[in-house]
Amino acid sequence: MNELWDWTCSQFEDADKMSSPLQGATMKFLASLLKPKRILEIGCYTGYSAMAWHEATGPLQTEITTLELDPKMIAASRRTFDKYHLNDRVTLIEGPAGDSIPRLTGHFDLVFVDANKDGYQDYVAKILDRRLLSPGGLILCDNIFARGMTISTDANPQLPDKVRPYWTANGKALDRFNRFCKADPRVDSVLLPVFDGLTLIKWKDGGAGV
Ligand code: SAM
Repeated sequence: MNELWDWTCSQFEDADKMSSPLQGATMKFLASLLKPKRILEIGCYTGYSAMAWHEATGPLQTEITTLELDPKMIAASRRTFDKYHLNDRVTLIEGPAGDSIPRLTGHFDLVFVDANKDGYQDYVAKILDRRLLSPGGLILCDNIFARGMTISTDANPQLPDKVRPYWTANGKALDRFNRFCKADPRVDSVLLPVFDGLTLIKWKDGGAGV
């Protein structure tokens, strides 16, 4: 994972899209605790988080499905999965997540939402509507603070002008997403002030009827 992290930083100007090593360690901790049989990841980038899921779930032989839209990142992820021999359990589905999710079947025990921020509400709604989350399953949604912009456009004076419009728009979308999570009677959710904001979502009634 360290080698892939260094490689990604050396190759891509937007490498801050990749999870941090501390996030990677947290993912591995959670996966080894929760013991998911199937993991769905929305937003693959260079495959760093998929590698974390893979590393933590060897004994369980967990099946990992990851969705990616950008041809450049699809190529980078395929390089990762080939180079580090992850294809035994990782499946990369190419294309927009909004099209890929409705084609998925069965239950996922752990879902990591980490793609375009204006898509989170649609992705989580589709996952819940289609009962893709297992009864005891957990959805993790990354970057809910949008570098602070979800809270206020004044929240982060250090945010560079170059990326400010991007994160401001994301902040608005994620504010709508937070309201959606709070209002949906099917789920409990909690927004943890860790990393760039991490929301945890589970079925409210333990998934009865899922
Ligand atoms: N999960 C990765 C990690 O932890 O290293 C980082 C993912 S990065 C934040 C978001 C990725 O989502 C990008 O590679 C981007 O191309 C992809 N993406 C953006 N919009 C998407 C969409 N509509 N469908 C699928 N992937 C998308």
